[in-house]
Amino acid sequence: ADQFEGRTALVTGAGSGIGRAAAVALAAEGANVVVNDLDLEAAQDVVNSILETGGTAVPSVGDVGSAEDVKGAVETAVSEFGGLHLAFNNAGISGPLGLLTDIDLEGYRRVIDVNLNSVFYGMYYQIPEMQKAGGGAIVNMSSILGVVGSATAVPYVTAKHGVTGMTRAAALGYANQGIRVNSVHPGYIDTPLLANLPEEVYASLVGLHPAGRLGTAEEVAQVVLFLLSDKAAFVTGAQYAVDGAYTTQ
Ligand code: NAD
Repeated sequence: ADQFEGRTALVTGAGSGIGRAAAVALAAEGANVVVNDLDLEAAQDVVNSILETGGTAVPSVGDVGSAEDVKGAVETAVSEFGGLHLAFNNAGISGPLGLLTDIDLEGYRRVIDVNLNSVFYGMYYQIPEMQKAGGGAIVNMSSILGVVGSATAVPYVTAKHGVTGMTRAAALGYANQGIRVNSVHPGYIDTPLLANLPEEVYASLVGLHPAGRLGTAEEVAQVVLFLLSDKAAFVTGAQYAVDGAYTTQ
């Protein structure tokens, strides 16, 4: 259970939900983990639980919507652990809901910054470190809404489709350098991101999944770990659905 021994992984938005599950699972498999989050307390809590189980992790507080902060998270990996081999660009927010013309511009821009520009900044600073390390693997967080549309989640759909395209472009650009880039597309996952939804909306989400339930953060994390691992050595530029057949319909 130490397939990531000697490797360093950066996980953004790792203070909660899917990012937390991935950070914990990576550490359990031997990776040194940089736990980024906007929320210091959340990041420190994840680091503490990794340390308690004998793993290695450090917090890196920062806003992924800021290129400087993302650069700082990569620099933390280098200064603490000597380099960077793996990255999960996961942080994201759900953002304002409504038809396109009902969305406030500030809310739109924030979703694009946090869910899309963050992934560009991530890869922009991660890839040079992976080149120095002789290779690496990146997983970018998209969504079912990076594959299909939704009338009322316009900023989110826009950002997540952007992540899908950016992942493909980066995968093509670095395929011959041993740097793999894939995206994951979860269906609705039972995490704090969904906590603010009205109960009837939550129930209706379950009905959208042929599997008859929402997914768990751990189920997404296991797919992310596979894509970051050497088992997926010939997988790059792929869009991995983790959605209980939502997008198969
Ligand atoms: P979550 O709210 O449980 O966790 C997200 C974490 O990201 C939080 O700890 C939050 O503090 C942090 N964060 C938010 N903005 C940040 C910023 N600007 N900089 C750094 N950290 C920031 O959410 P989750 O459900 O685990 O979602 C993680 C990712 O998965 C998101 O990109 C989301 O869009 C995507 N996703 C979630 C679902 C779902 O149903 N939960 C489905 C598909 C995709």
